[in-house]
Amino acid sequence: MSDPFFMKITFLGTGTSQGVPPIGCMSDVCLSSNPKDKRLRASIHVEWDGKSIVVDAGPDFRYQMIRAGINRIDALLFTHEHKDHTAGLDDVRPFNYIQNEHIQVYCDSRVLKALENQYDYIFAEFKYPGVPLIDFHEIKNELFHAADKPIIPIEVLHYKLPVFGFRFGDFVYITDANFISDIEIEKIKGCKVLVLNALRRESHISHFTLKEATDLALKIGAENTYFTHMSHQIGFHDEVCAELPDGIELAYDGLEIIL
Ligand SMILES: [Zn+2]
Ligand SMILES: [Zn+2]
Repeated sequence: MSDPFFMKITFLGTGTSQGVPPIGCMSDVCLSSNPKDKRLRASIHVEWDGKSIVVDAGPDFRYQMIRAGINRIDALLFTHEHKDHTAGLDDVRPFNYIQNEHIQVYCDSRVLKALENQYDYIFAEFKYPGVPLIDFHEIKNELFHAADKPIIPIEVLHYKLPVFGFRFGDFVYITDANFISDIEIEKIKGCKVLVLNALRRESHISHFTLKEATDLALKIGAENTYFTHMSHQIGFHDEVCAELPDGIELAYDGLEIIL
């Protein structure tokens, strides 16, 4: 754990906004008995030189922390303000108690404003006892440090909404994109492990399709690329993986990668 350069990535959730299965869905994929076809909302844990970094805190945040055994957060980064990425923020409270300190949250100014609306009580001058205690750090599209580690934001487009992906050393995590400019792609190149979002086969206004994500993964050429933020419409995990090129596969909840 304290080994320098140690990095362990854990996929906490690999599903799209409603999760897989969505409530009440009786599709073949949603009825699958393969655990890899069950997907909580998209989030990732990066353990880096003993530091604990979480990206996004959606509606499944509490269960994801318990399931992955995460009992400390040194930095929580937000990619953007959509509720499937922010709805779990209230559940940082146990970390306040365990760590006896404020939680360090990193996001850009637009996301911060949205969080102020979504969680007015966290920002209240006179706080109700027991509300989450958070230090917010505004980031821009330039290198910043969180948990004492250098992190490079990568600005992608989610329809018209700018969203941040993040580069942690040789690992890049991107979700909720359907366009990445050549300038930002340059910041991704050379990474060993890349995560991209791939919603389904049919086109979508704000997410890469399986084909678009595959083409982009081949263009960037990381040693290994994993797809996330998937809908049940993408198909069965094992069948889709079998048809993808070498080095490209679907992520699944609980997948761990050591770098
Ligand atoms: Zn999303
Ligand atoms: Zn989104």
